[in-house]
Parts: sequence; C-alpha cells; structure tokens
Amino acid sequence: MKVGVPKETAPNERRVALVPDTVAKLVKVGLEVLVERGAGEAASFADEAYRAAGATVVATAGQVFGQSDVILKMQPPSIDEVRLCREGAALVAVFQPSAERDVVAQLAARTVTAFSLALLPRITRAQPMDMLSSQATVAGYKAVLLAAATTGRFFPMLVTAAGTLPPARVLVLGAGVAGLQAIATARRLGAVVSAFDVRPAVKEQVESLGARFLEMQIGEQAEAAGGYAKELSEETHRRELAFIAQQVRDADIVITTAAIPGKRAPILVTADAVRGMKPGSVIVDLAVETGGNCELTEPGTEVIRNGVLVLGPLNLPSTLPYHASQMYARNVSSFLLHITKDGALRLDFEDEITRDTCVTHAGEVRKQ
Ligand code: NAD
Repeated sequence: MKVGVPKETAPNERRVALVPDTVAKLVKVGLEVLVERGAGEAASFADEAYRAAGATVVATAGQVFGQSDVILKMQPPSIDEVRLCREGAALVAVFQPSAERDVVAQLAARTVTAFSLALLPRITRAQPMDMLSSQATVAGYKAVLLAAATTGRFFPMLVTAAGTLPPARVLVLGAGVAGLQAIATARRLGAVVSAFDVRPAVKEQVESLGARFLEMQIGEQAEAAGGYAKELSEETHRRELAFIAQQVRDADIVITTAAIPGKRAPILVTADAVRGMKPGSVIVDLAVETGGNCELTEPGTEVIRNGVLVLGPLNLPSTLPYHASQMYARNVSSFLLHITKDGALRLDFEDEITRDTCVTHAGEVRKQ
C-alpha cells in the first residue's frame, strides 16, 4: 500500500502530515511512502531526511495523489486536490464536514474514503491519535509566548538594583488541554496564574500546576458525557460574565480557551469587561476559530481598545511547525495503522474510531 504526503497548500500552513521518524516506522511495517518535494521544508524537515527514512520524494502533488492509496494531510483538501485523488483512494485530514460541504460532496463523488481526525472520539483507546489534544497543547504554549512577547511587562518577579518588579498576573479561562498547557507555560515563565473553568473536575489539575482555581457557584451540571462542557443556562452565563468581569480587572494577561464541542464558543469577556481592564493588558483569544471568547476579538488580527490589546491568532499550531508536525505525525500514523491490516486498508465500521471519523465512503456522505 502506498501512503502519500503532499505539501500543504493552505495559506500559512507550515506543518506536514508525516515527519521522517514516522515515515521510517511506516516503512518498517511494510508500507511505501511518497512525499512531495519540499513538503516538510516549512517545518524544517528536508527531502533528504525523508529519503533517508525510506520515503520516495516525488516532484509534484499530482504524482503523490495519482500514485497513493492513502493520502495523509493536515488541512482539508482543496477541490483541486480532490480531483487529483485516485478513485477509491483514502484520505485522512482534519476538518469539520459542515464547514467543507463542497469538498465533502466531491470526495464522495470521487468515491474517496475520507476521514477527519477532528471527529475522533476522545476515548482512551484513541489517545495516541488525538490530534485535537496534541495541537491544543501547542496552541496553549504558544498563546503564552505571544502574550509574553507583546506585553510591556516581565513575567517573572525580578529583584534588581533598579528596583523590584512584581510578577505578571495571568488569568486563564477554560482549563482543558490548551488552558492547562497555558497555565504550565505561564508558571514556567514565573507569572502568578489563576484559572477558571465551568467543570469543577479541573480544579485539582489547575492547582497541581501551581495556579489558583477561581471558584464560582455554578449551581447546575456543566459537564456533559465524555468530560466536555455543556452550554450554561442564560442566568448562569450572566453570572459568569459578571464574575469574569471582576477577575479580569486584576489581570495583566488573559488567555481564553473555552469551547463547547459543536457550538459557537461562549463569550466570556465582554466589551464592558475589557473597558474595566488596565491599559497595557493583553488578551489572547484561542477560541477565535469558533467565534471567540472575547466580544472584541477579530480573527487573525489585533484590536486595541482602551489600551488593551486583544489578539485573535489563527492556526497557532502552525507557528510551531516542527513539534506540531511531529506530534500530528504520530497521531495520524497511529490512526493509519488502526485502519490497516497486513499492509492494506481494513475498515471495520463496527469500530467507534473508524465509524466516527469516516466522512465519505463508497460514494456516500456519512457525516454532514
Ligand atoms: P474544549 O476545547 O472543548 O474546551 C476547553 C475548555 O473550555 C474545557 O475545559 C471546558 O470545560 C471549558 N469551557 C467551556 N465552556 C466554558 C465556560 N462557559 N466558561 C469557562 N470554561 C468553559 O476541551 P478540551 O480541552 O478539548 O478537552 C476537555 C476535556 O475533554 C478534557 O479535560 C478531558 O476531560 C476530555 N478529554 C479526554 C481525552 C481522552 O482521551 N479521554 C482526551 C482529551 C480530552
């Protein structure tokens, strides 16, 4: 079976689906790997390293798509890329089918069996394939570095001959995978960190990272099955907004990561709350791709309001492409091996992982 890795074509995408280490592992189990020339270049993986790992480097995307039985990608394919796919081939990428209706229809029309790892069930068995967690880890880390690079303050407390400088106060809203990594990173830089989440279960995790957990009486079940948050009632959300507006007044940096699967991200920091913040404060809104947690966030750009900088960075994992690719490559190769047996695709739709991630198969759209 031939596995193909094209160069990503989406603007600003620097990651690559397989890195040389994972190529070597796939070659070792008997798979052939084709990599488009320059596919890993933006992530600092040279063609030569892929060759040394046992891959064949080919000159064009057309050759990768035209010769591969399975295509591994990061971003969803473009319509042009779908046209390059072989009929009956398989493709693994990361996308929400509802946001890619035309592409999904084309994939089905070309009888491509397409999988989206964005749909992977968060079950223990699927952890090695969990790219949502691996890329959220990258985003949480990088969000803190962005804040540190844009604030006019030091993060750590400094005692110097030129005076004693207090540590930065960082507030993290939403303490899932990205939020916990943001807490850990801000702590490593010496900030005083507090965090809030509607799921009471995360209190212990926040505290174990040396941060303070902000307590608010939620008064309702905020956790759904599977460990995710649920949408709050209007009344509780109103109380939450007032609570957060109080907390952001003292913060120098606010990192927001709150999300509810399948829904728009909840607004947590209103324009009024931003007005109450100190000039020079920085908000990094990691929920920007699902609508944003701050009322003022603009996707992919910065907004300054009353001296507060609001950043809405898009595709942060791509800005740390070396390790983000390495982690994704492990995720996607674990998934590939899960749907492969004896060097060929073996699809078992009774299996939750295969069933939940499969978007198109045998000409049918299975996930809208
Ligand atoms: P996510 O990206 O969906 O949400 C981020 C955080 O925002 C969550 O902690 C959520 O509680 C919080 N949030 C939602 N609404 C909020 C609000 N109104 N106010 C404040 N916070 C709000 O979540 P995630 O980071 O992808 O994962 C969340 C959880 O999923 C994990 O902590 C874990 O329990 C579970 N998970 C399980 C596995 C597994 O393999 N078993 C893997 C990853 C995650």
